[in-house]
Amino acid sequence: MIKKDPKGDTDSLLEDVRNDYRAFPEMGIKRCLQCGLCTSNCPAARHSDYDPREMVKMVRDNNPEIMNNPDIWNCFYCYTCGSNCPANNSPCIVNQILRQKILLKGENNARIYEFLAYGYSYLDFGVGSIPSDFFDGLVADFGQKYVELKINLEDIRHDLGLEDYNLKGEALEEVKSILSSSGFTSRLEEFKRCHES
Ligand code: SF4
Ligand code: SF4
Repeated sequence: MIKKDPKGDTDSLLEDVRNDYRAFPEMGIKRCLQCGLCTSNCPAARHSDYDPREMVKMVRDNNPEIMNNPDIWNCFYCYTCGSNCPANNSPCIVNQILRQKILLKGENNARIYEFLAYGYSYLDFGVGSIPSDFFDGLVADFGQKYVELKINLEDIRHDLGLEDYNLKGEALEEVKSILSSSGFTSRLEEFKRCHES
């Protein structure tokens, strides 16, 4: 049952987060112990000043200043934080809700521009695919074999007896239709226009 308002705009940041449809009913944001396990396992915290424990605390304290913290954009939604939280909280989802609230206010659109190609990959292939803009960095990390894997992926899958990774034909059209009717496609276009204007 979707009973929640994604735009949630009450006086309480905590209630806005809890009322968002992304927040599952048992999500334990109010039970957060401030144990810091999420931060200790967070790759973004390891490589930046982002601190999911502190983010959750500020939401619990109804402190809107967290919305102005540029570090929250360093989370890349790996979901590690929620997998070991003793309170069944998900800093990852809390972060998603915060960022959505900021974007709905028309702010920080530039923060997600480089990820739009990821969204467009659903329209082109029916699945999420790492955008080519990231290839140079991935080659730097994994070597040329990363590109070779990308180029030969379908052949490798066929050799292993697996079906195509990318969707085609009717299945692809079905995904595109869902993305269009859900507003996903128009949101992508909107963000693209905002950035280019
Ligand atoms: S792991 Fe869970 S309980 Fe511990 S600080 Fe993070 S959100 Fe709070
Ligand atoms: S989802 Fe975000 S906050 Fe959670 S562990 Fe991954 S990078 Fe850190």
